[in-house]
Amino acid sequence: MSMAHRSDAVHVRAPGKINVYLGVGSQHDDGYHALATVFQAVSLYEDVYAHPSNEFTLEVYGDVDVADVPVDDRNLAMRAAKLLAQTAGVTAGVHLVIRKGVPVAGGMGGGSADAAAALVACDALWGTELGPHRLHELAARLGADVPFALHGGTAIGAGRGDELTPALARGRFDWVLVTSAQGLSTPEIYGRLDALRAHGEALADDPPLSLDVPVAVLQALRAGDAMALAPVMFNDLERAAVDGRPDLERALADGLRFGALAGIVSGSGPTVALLCADSEIARTVQQELQATGRTALHVHGPVAGAQVLG
Ligand code: ATP
Repeated sequence: MSMAHRSDAVHVRAPGKINVYLGVGSQHDDGYHALATVFQAVSLYEDVYAHPSNEFTLEVYGDVDVADVPVDDRNLAMRAAKLLAQTAGVTAGVHLVIRKGVPVAGGMGGGSADAAAALVACDALWGTELGPHRLHELAARLGADVPFALHGGTAIGAGRGDELTPALARGRFDWVLVTSAQGLSTPEIYGRLDALRAHGEALADDPPLSLDVPVAVLQALRAGDAMALAPVMFNDLERAAVDGRPDLERALADGLRFGALAGIVSGSGPTVALLCADSEIARTVQQELQATGRTALHVHGPVAGAQVLG
């Protein structure tokens, strides 16, 4: 294979995500739960810079607390770079620099965005030209949320969340995110949901017999209609995420009080995503929440997946 190595750094930007809908089925033998979800990529980004190097090294900084982000082989971006090198027979290394904008352990897939960005950046740096199909395969091996970070936009995720079907979404949706200094562990939240269900604290059809995204969710997205989307947003993990975190319930309630149409915990939390009717209302909701001492961000979706910039 002839590979045209680049000598300058490659800059790739990848988005964080919100799960507009997240239905969780029962646990499979491989430990994963069956999911029916709708992802939307939002304008909160991870920037990954891939510099030519003979070794594999990584540094992390950012607008969010990065103290808990590993810089060794536990980092998903590092794993992504090594998986691509191994698959494509690359002998060079890479120095990855990650600028995090997505809260760590926030339920917004920040680590998955880093992995997707690292795949795209190293593919360009090393000239491996794997193409979208093979990059998707590698992404799915790295983690269930990684393929979506590659694709972006709005998409339905089945299986572990990695079997993607693009969903039509017209226009723009305005969200206010309330982030949290204290993250939540995704495996722990799934475990808590299983425990709640085992103790009978579940609805009659919980876990549901059929794991499908309701048509009303897809219709609202297709119509670009925030008013129609608000009442049908749902997250099976929310109960487990707010358990022992009254601050999240208060953030949801305050968001509605300040003018949001509806609120939801994103993924496994603790980030709270508040859907607003338009960008002006979102700005007001953001300011009111900031005035209570919280960190609130106004973002919009859908936005593109991992892409090379500059
Ligand atoms: P998801 O919703 O995809 O499960 P999340 O958004 O809740 O994830 P992340 O910030 O992606 O959480 O990562 C969760 C944990 O994974 C972190 O606490 C950290 O220990 C580890 N991790 C590995 N690689 C990364 C990375 N590149 N960025 C952040 N965390 C990482």
